[in-house]
Amino acid sequence: MDERTDRRSYEGRSITVTFEAGRCRHAAECVRGLPEVFDTARRPWIRPDGADAGRVAEVVRRCPSGALRYERTDGGQGPWPVRTNEER
Ligand code: SF4
Repeated sequence: MDERTDRRSYEGRSITVTFEAGRCRHAAECVRGLPEVFDTARRPWIRPDGADAGRVAEVVRRCPSGALRYERTDGGQGPWPVRTNEER
C-alpha cells in the first residue's frame, strides 16, 4: 500500500490494478463493466486475472474518478494514467 494514499495493489499475471478508496465515486463503471474482475461482495474485490488484461485495462480507463489505475506487466498498452513528473 502506498503510504501517502490508501491506494492498494491487486497483482495479476499480465496486469496490476491499483485502487484508491478515497477517490472512488461509486459510479460502478468497473462492477458493471467487468463483474468477473470487480465484485465488491468478494475479497479481494479486484481479481485482475478474471478476464483478458486488455479488457481489464479498458474498464479501468472508464473509471471517472482516477480511483482505479493499472500497469501492464506483459508489455501491453499502459500504464494508466500516464505518469506525470510529480507522481514519480
Ligand atoms: S469505476 Fe472507479 S469510481 Fe466507479 S466504482 Fe469503480 S473504482 Fe469507484
